[in-house]
Amino acid sequence: MSTLITNIGELTTNADDGTLHAAAVLLEDGRVAWVGRAVDAPAAAEIVDAAGRAVIPGFVDSHSHIVFGGDRAAEFEARMAGQKYAAGGIRSTVAATRAASDEELRARLRGFVDEMHAQGTTTIEIKSGYGLDIHTEQRLVRLAAEVTDEVTFLGAHVVPAEYADDPGAYVDLVTGPMLDACAPHARWIDVFCETGAFTVEQSRRVLEAGIARGLAPRVHASQLGPGGGVQLAIELGAASVDHGTYLTDEDVAALAASDTVLTLLPGVEFSTRQPYPDARRLIDAGVTVALACDTNPGSSFTSSMPFCIAVAVRDMRMTPSEALWAATAGGARALRRSDVGLIAPGARADLVMLEAPSHVHLSYRPGVPLIRAVWKDGTIV
Ligand SMILES: [Zn+2]
Repeated sequence: MSTLITNIGELTTNADDGTLHAAAVLLEDGRVAWVGRAVDAPAAAEIVDAAGRAVIPGFVDSHSHIVFGGDRAAEFEARMAGQKYAAGGIRSTVAATRAASDEELRARLRGFVDEMHAQGTTTIEIKSGYGLDIHTEQRLVRLAAEVTDEVTFLGAHVVPAEYADDPGAYVDLVTGPMLDACAPHARWIDVFCETGAFTVEQSRRVLEAGIARGLAPRVHASQLGPGGGVQLAIELGAASVDHGTYLTDEDVAALAASDTVLTLLPGVEFSTRQPYPDARRLIDAGVTVALACDTNPGSSFTSSMPFCIAVAVRDMRMTPSEALWAATAGGARALRRSDVGLIAPGARADLVMLEAPSHVHLSYRPGVPLIRAVWKDGTIV
């Protein structure tokens, strides 16, 4: 089965050919088979006329927490009335998640995946972290693996209430039997390295244990204040360090000199009313930056990459092109993937047609549903 999308007004490829106009893309067997000028396009079984609209790579959302039970709308409402965000709010979702059945969690998860597809996201990373006991954490990674290959074990999300007096014993659990139960279902190991969650030394234990089990590291760090998490992530060769709202000059220089991506999560600053990270400072220093939603019931309950792009442009001083790159190719780098986040021969046929002549409209027309069509693996979703 082959599909030719032709008469594309603006095609962002994220490949060597950059942006093409009056372009066409041939999709074949779930992959991009050809990219070029519409007048040179090969024949195909099916023709889709883009009528001058823009086409971009599908969004790569490299950071989400979408397997959970419960709802925290009341906490959000209180926060908007002036209450401060703290990492401990995670525990209320843990109680609701433990109480939910697999069927309830699965139905909710699939609803979020559909919601993300409809907004142009074609690659989704999903973390555990709302179980915090062996049985529930294993359920979460198993359910996540039903819908994505990018599964992250985040048993070290926060210390659960029952270990509040002995966090060291909880780290023993996470790095021992919980890791044994979850590693077969996961690709990544993650830790929330932050005051109120895990110290740098505890985070190192978690990440090193995961690496020893064949998982690759990624880290939540410097969301609520500066800390050692960024340097630890770089030292351990993490694919990405996420949040990075409070970075020292040493952190920025070390990131620029490393292969570690800094994943910015503007939905968090929006929803917690924290200051936005300085994306301009990072990009100008040569740091590779990704954008992701961090969809979760506490600190960022948007699943919209177009929304995150609009905030990144408006409030974090990224250009529209930088924000689009970060939400596609940047996300792919953060997942160490070379087959997504671009439109080039051999890449997965994951594309989005916008109801707009240019990708700039993603931030120029915030909140407007501009996703006209989404192809994942060459099939319309
Ligand atoms: Zn997160």
